[in-house]
Amino acid sequence: MSRYTDAKCRLCRREQEKLFLKGAKCSSEKCAMEKKRLHPGKDAKGQTKPLIGYNQQLRQKQKVKRHYGMTEKQFYLFFQKANKMTGVTSDNLFQMLERRLDNVVYKAGFACSRDQARQMVSHGLVHVNGHKVDIPSYLVKKEDKLTFKKKNLESETFKDQINVSKSLANSRDRIVPGWIEVNYDNFEAKVLEYPSIKDVYLTVEPRLIVELYSK
Ligand code: SF4
Repeated sequence: MSRYTDAKCRLCRREQEKLFLKGAKCSSEKCAMEKKRLHPGKDAKGQTKPLIGYNQQLRQKQKVKRHYGMTEKQFYLFFQKANKMTGVTSDNLFQMLERRLDNVVYKAGFACSRDQARQMVSHGLVHVNGHKVDIPSYLVKKEDKLTFKKKNLESETFKDQINVSKSLANSRDRIVPGWIEVNYDNFEAKVLEYPSIKDVYLTVEPRLIVELYSK
């Protein structure tokens, strides 16, 4: 399954919004979106061209998909599952996206970026309720407890990395959401409740994604 490997900041410029794809740089002045420059989609005066219809729907979907670092196929599968569930499709979709294990590791402040969180999960570092789970798209449930492989907790490098991530997670751009309880002393996190669309860092119009896939 092909994953985007080109310059990540280009994706933020394309969507004209910070997608938080590069860890520490995203919360610093070095972030490309903090610099005043002409972004794609803007005219010579720096004005944004209004998007309408299909283009508007497509950009919303691309923005969300890129934010969560998913491929088209993975994202569409999530949409299909959300559509089959009871309730509002867009609410189901965003709740599922937020419940992804890699997202929870990132939002809890154990990783600087989703890419790093995904790698931690795939390498089997993360345990859910005492069992190793190495599937980044695993959906956490209420009361689930996240811990780390004991061997990693003995590594100073690993603990230093978590400390850097922790400070980022409490920076102005990123705040650990209320639905996750984190204990940094014990390197543990607990899912207190299910997330909602309010917990997404992006400005999104979920209706447009539903409309795009409902054609
Ligand atoms: Fe690059 Fe991160 Fe800024 Fe996006 S938010 S432009 S990925 S530094």
